[in-house]
Amino acid sequence: MNELYRPIETMPGVGEKRAAKYHKLGIFTPYDLLFHFPRTYIDYTHPVMIADAENGVPVAVRCTVRQKLAPAFVRRGFSLFRVVVSDGITEMTLVFYNSPYTYQAMKPGEEYFAYGKLSGGFLRREMQAPQVQKTEGALLLQPVYPQTVGLTSAMMRTNILRALQYLDSAPIETLPRSMRERCQLCGLTEALHAVHRPESPQQLESARYRLAFEELLLFQLGTLMLKHRAAGSSAVSMSPQTDISDFYAALPFSLTNAQRHAVEVICRDLCAEKPMNRLLQGDVGSGKTAVAAAAAAFTAKNGLQTVLMAPTEILAQQHMQTMTEFLAPLGIETALLTGSTKAKQKREIKQGIAEGKYPVIIGTHAVIQKDIEFPSLGLVITDEQHRFGVAQRAALAEKGGFPHKLVMSATPIPRTLALIVYGDLDITVLDEMPKGRLPIRTFAVTGGYRDRAYGFIRERLDAGEQAYLVCAMIEDSDTLENVQAAETYAENVKNGAFADYRVGLLHGKMKPADKEAVMNAMKSHEIDLLVCTTVVEVGVDVPNATVILIENADRFGLAQLHQLRGRVGRSNVQSYCILLTDSRREDARNRLKIMSRTTNGFAIAEEDLRLRGPGDFFGHAQHGMPPMMQAAFCSNMPLVSETQEAAKQILAEDPELDQPENRPLRTAVLQLFAKNGENGLN
Ligand code: ADP
Ligand code: MG
Repeated sequence: MNELYRPIETMPGVGEKRAAKYHKLGIFTPYDLLFHFPRTYIDYTHPVMIADAENGVPVAVRCTVRQKLAPAFVRRGFSLFRVVVSDGITEMTLVFYNSPYTYQAMKPGEEYFAYGKLSGGFLRREMQAPQVQKTEGALLLQPVYPQTVGLTSAMMRTNILRALQYLDSAPIETLPRSMRERCQLCGLTEALHAVHRPESPQQLESARYRLAFEELLLFQLGTLMLKHRAAGSSAVSMSPQTDISDFYAALPFSLTNAQRHAVEVICRDLCAEKPMNRLLQGDVGSGKTAVAAAAAAFTAKNGLQTVLMAPTEILAQQHMQTMTEFLAPLGIETALLTGSTKAKQKREIKQGIAEGKYPVIIGTHAVIQKDIEFPSLGLVITDEQHRFGVAQRAALAEKGGFPHKLVMSATPIPRTLALIVYGDLDITVLDEMPKGRLPIRTFAVTGGYRDRAYGFIRERLDAGEQAYLVCAMIEDSDTLENVQAAETYAENVKNGAFADYRVGLLHGKMKPADKEAVMNAMKSHEIDLLVCTTVVEVGVDVPNATVILIENADRFGLAQLHQLRGRVGRSNVQSYCILLTDSRREDARNRLKIMSRTTNGFAIAEEDLRLRGPGDFFGHAQHGMPPMMQAAFCSNMPLVSETQEAAKQILAEDPELDQPENRPLRTAVLQLFAKNGENGLN
């Protein structure tokens, strides 16, 4: 069997422990490893002279070992290993903390590259914790891989080198030769070598171009194939005479113009024979749920079922409440199905669905997708789509033939990105907020202001308002550490700054029933202050909450901060967002400044895309959006339209990629689309 596709633990040097870490990154085989691309490269092509190097700026220096100083054991658990080197004119000292390995490997008289930041004065310069490699056989552009706990770039480089050897004994290629020639793309095997072990910036550039091209192409092929299939199928068309004026009459508010317009467009789609495939994009709080309810009412009046799916239980529950509030006056029954629905109840609901008792079914994705039959499914609505990704969308298209589909996304996505990710969808934007909303005032401050911020929050609570304290400590929310951190944090504020208030705690590891209880307590104002991890990020609606304080705000992407901030500002009362950070990094501070400057989700999204690439919009490693695209988006927009053209061209001749020269492409597309859900596209 081809070594590339064997389990990664069969590679020399990869034990069970390391394999587990790779698995976390979605890497299961040496093949996967080859597609784990460097985040950046350390550039050794232009080494500087020590005398010319500025302090505090990372530089590469070409130097020879003069002297190895004796290790210094400063105190328990803290030792220094120092090596004096010279670039031929000036000397400096390399300092390694607690790590003897590089120190031990370095030999007097031999030449090395050292990379790091210099400090110290004219006479005694030091480079702290440098990266070191021998100049002989050095990688002049040394890959640095996305960081993961316990997996260093050096380990990955070693493992990838081996995977590249496997590749050489069985080279791979996805793109047809004709296309490679027409678009001047290098081969895949060559590109993989070059991206992991580039010999020159030019070679690296052409490899990246080729890989980005391929990823974009596959993505576009997939979405276009979906679109094509949907267009070739038919859905039940509803009646244009359908009257939902009683829906409008029963609403507790009147729709904004943007909402009205969206409802019109959607209802027009529902009346067509071609299945609707529409993305409803609206900034947080723009009122997408009411639009969804209108569409559900329209569908129900046509005797058809609507399914509304949410990514989390909390959201499903909340939608259940809202939809019931909006639809019950019309006599439209709603049912809720989530992971915590009891088996007996679930059976009854399923039965009810089968008998057509419930025109509107709300639930979590996982549950709805499983073995439920909808006798007259007319419309499928997915909320907060970015959590699901393209594959899930594809999977659902299969469900109940081709129903009309409405996707709602609260993450404003830049148009360029939307065109790719939602290439199979038509897009409607809710670009207006309900009347009377005040822009949220946002402040980015250091931890030194925490007490003042708490004082401010107490004032708001005293005024009868509510607040959130978000305290996820590490990027990936709801890990054990985060939960513990949140628990400790909650204890601290409960006994300290907020001893006189009702404090609640919400995190992702809680049982669904407990989560629901806490959310309900928050909604009914039995809790003043909710300490939480980022589980509140999506969709949670408590209009009386007016302050959100976010700890370690610098660790979040802008899009995510915007989502979090959207938990307040949901009524006509002035709301506040306090971003706490102790980061001194300029980029972190600049990002937070953007948050203070604008509350326009689309502007923030554009900025986030520019700063962090598209990964952030979709959550890590679960978005179906491959990493290489980042490069494409940041530096190479023409590539987007070029690949779109190429995809259209291929599909025009071979809609299902059945031709022999297109088979590898087909396999690759299926693989990409199957990553998140099963049977994405087959
Ligand atoms: P999102 O678009 O973020 O999903 P929601 O649908 O949760 O927003 O709506 C946010 C809040 O605004 C809800 O409390 C909802 O009842 C309210 N709302 C929606 N539309 C209007 C409107 N036209 N006028 C006043 N309030 C509205
Ligand atoms: Mg919502």
